[in-house]
Formats: sequence, C-alpha cells, structure tokens
Amino acid sequence: MNGSHVVAVDVGGTNVRLGMIREDGEVIRRRRTKIPEATGASMLYQALSDRILAFMASNGNLPAPKGVALGFAGPTDSSAGYVYCAPNVGGLVDLSLGRSLQRLLGLPVLVANDANCAALGEFWCGAGMGARSLFMFTLGTGVGGSLVIGGDIWEGEWGIAGEIGHTVIDAGGPKCNCGKRGCLEALASGTAIVRDYIRRAGIRSPGKRKAITAKAVFERAKQGDGIAKKVVADAARALGIGIANVFNLINPELILIGGGISRAGATLIKPAAAHARELVFPPLKHNLKVRKARLGDDAGLLGAAYLAFRRAGW
Ligand SMILES: [Zn+2]
Repeated sequence: MNGSHVVAVDVGGTNVRLGMIREDGEVIRRRRTKIPEATGASMLYQALSDRILAFMASNGNLPAPKGVALGFAGPTDSSAGYVYCAPNVGGLVDLSLGRSLQRLLGLPVLVANDANCAALGEFWCGAGMGARSLFMFTLGTGVGGSLVIGGDIWEGEWGIAGEIGHTVIDAGGPKCNCGKRGCLEALASGTAIVRDYIRRAGIRSPGKRKAITAKAVFERAKQGDGIAKKVVADAARALGIGIANVFNLINPELILIGGGISRAGATLIKPAAAHARELVFPPLKHNLKVRKARLGDDAGLLGAAYLAFRRAGW
C-alpha cells in the first residue's frame, strides 16, 4: 500500500530539489543536487528519473509515495504534464515530461510550472497564508511569476499566465533568453545582475567572471561598492516597474518576492517596492503590499505537494 506522502521535485535552472512531503505540509526529508546536463529530452527524463528513484531508495522503510509532484522551470501546460520550453534548462523544448516520467517511475506524476508551485507553497504554509489573491515573483536564474486566487493558480487558457519574466520592461534593453529584448528576466534575474556587474566592472578574466555571483554583487553593494550599488539599483528599478504593472493590471491583495535572489532582502525589495509605489495608480498606492516570501527552497516543494493533495486528490 502506498503511504500518505508524495515525492515533490523542484527542477530549477541550477538545482534539482527533492522532498518527501506529508499531507499536513511537513517536509520529512530533503535533498538537493545539481541540474543534470542534458542535451536532449530523453536524457533529461532519464536523469530526473534516476535522481527521484535514488531519493526514494534512500528513504529506508517509508512506504511507496502516492506519486511524484514536480515543479519545472519553464512554461507548462499542467493538465497535459507538458513543458513548452525550458530556456534555463539546457534550452530544451517540447517536453512530454509527465508522461515520460510516469513511464520510467511507474508512479502517478504531476507536472506544474515551478514558479506556480512556489506561490502555492507560500499560500499554503508561508507568507501568503490567508490571502484572497496574491501574485508572487520568483527571482532566480530566471524570473517567474504566478497568480493565486482563492487558493488556486490562474494558469490562463494555455498555461502561461503570470509569466512576468518575459514581459518587456525596456524595449531597447539587453537580449533575453527568450529571444526578445528588455524582458524583466533580462534586467532583474540573478543571471542579469551577474552579467551587468561583469560588464560595468570590465571583468575579462574567465576565472574572475566565474567568481561573481548575484549574492556577491548584493554583498558588495551593502559594503558600498559603487558599481554593485548601481547594478542593484537598476535591477530594483526594473523589478519595481514589474511590480507596479502587476498591481495596476491585477490588483492583488499581496505581492510576494521569492526565489534565491529574494535572499538579498531589503537591499533589493525595499527600493523596488518604493519605485513601484511611485508608479501605481495613485489613489491606491497605500494598498500596495510587497513582502518577502518566507519558505525559501521549500516553497516549490510544498506547492507541488499542495497540488497533489488538494487539487489532484492524491
Ligand atoms: Zn524574455
């Protein structure tokens, strides 16, 4: 008989996170590994399946899980378990992830967009508990976004609602992974912050370039490094425009900032929220609530599990 838990998997641009999650939202065990380097879809399916099976095997006496709930970094049609494209996961396109993993694992598999999972996780157990409506920005290697209304994701007709990362903030801005210019992702993602710092600081040596991370840029900004401060200010400004656009368009009760880059905390979020407040519909500027997400890396895992328990009825 299968147990009362699910295996939740969060496939991001850099890491794969796995968790055993119970119906009450308790994370029993966690594991993090690097994203496999996959040059083709079937290589990716096999690598993910191997990691999931190894994780399950390491769980000792636990009964088999009810299934595998997976959040993936790319626009996803969750009803079909299908990922349109994965600009940050090997640039792969056209992934029948749900069906392929189900065949390899012999368990039910649910696939959803990773940012949507993170937002649902925060709604279920984190900073968004009790909100009637919330929009969450997920800032990491890329920029994701999700709209939760009444405890459900609004996915849009074809599954890509909330993709704030690929809305254009600066039409003449830097090129984005999606092929367009000036998307929020090209201006405020971890990748963009690192790229911008390297360019402005004129760093040429590949070794020194590799040492620059978004975390390092935020730390340098806090220590007063002028270039880092300018890079962070520009990213915050772009994020502020994104926040204001979301507020004016959707008017959610709460806007959350999550993902690895949100660890920068007030250094990024405070100036972004201040800039957004200048741009929203003036009579409502005091209704704009921007908060840092609370669950960190667990958000995506918990949201995937929430979908399995509360929506798929596992
Ligand atoms: Zn884009």
